[in-house]
Amino acid sequence: DQENKSGSEYLKEIQIDETEEKEDVTFQSLGVCEELVEACNRLKYVKPTAIQRESLVYTLKQRDIIALAETGSGKTLAFALPVIQNLLDAPQPFYALVLSPTRELCMQIAEHFEALGVGISLKTTVIVGGLDPMAQAIALSKKPHIIIGTPGRILYHMQNTKGFNFKALKFLVLDEADKLLNMDFEKDINQILDIIPKKRNTFLFSATMTNKVHKLQRASLKDPVKIEVSSKY
Ligand code: ADP
Ligand code: MG
Repeated sequence: DQENKSGSEYLKEIQIDETEEKEDVTFQSLGVCEELVEACNRLKYVKPTAIQRESLVYTLKQRDIIALAETGSGKTLAFALPVIQNLLDAPQPFYALVLSPTRELCMQIAEHFEALGVGISLKTTVIVGGLDPMAQAIALSKKPHIIIGTPGRILYHMQNTKGFNFKALKFLVLDEADKLLNMDFEKDINQILDIIPKKRNTFLFSATMTNKVHKLQRASLKDPVKIEVSSKY
């Protein structure tokens, strides 16, 4: 780990090799609550991955992070655990919004949340393009805690679905930010950022750092910790 010199745009910068092992680190020792540690054990998540290990100490304490890590590094659990753990303290509808670029990725994220949420009556909804907006409006009227979706369709419902708003939103997750921006979702995301509360926590995950990702970081994160996991260090 490297403590960053003052003058950086980041509160702290951490660069770590994904193969570096820290034997004694567990979900419990990172501050994950008992219910979620049990859920992890049940799902055979025995040891945190590098990105989970390096980010959870910050995300559980409601710091904004930008995390750069490759596909398959376990980013979903890295954001699902702190979102659910904070929700457990103060359950409320429309608590968290997760933006991801494709229907398939959104479905996978929802599966993670649902698997972790067994036994704590966590309600999640997937809102993606290509599916019936009326059925989605009905799903939203049931006041889910976690909404996972593609930016275009989320924005559509913010603008057109009565009774649906994010006035109480506490967490925004931007998943696969580089892909979101390459798929021309930038305008939709910026409109969403204009509508949702400024007082919230934001986690930005990306495989790569690009100019567009950096611009999105500046538009969406407050005093972020930057965590970079790769095999090149
Ligand atoms: P990414 O979003 O970084 O591409 P995912 O979150 O989809 O990665 O995770 C990749 C795979 O690793 C998934 O099948 C997930 O269930 C599994 N996984 C995540 N964290 C752990 C862990 N701590 N221990 C074991 N498997 C894990
Ligand atoms: Mg992912």
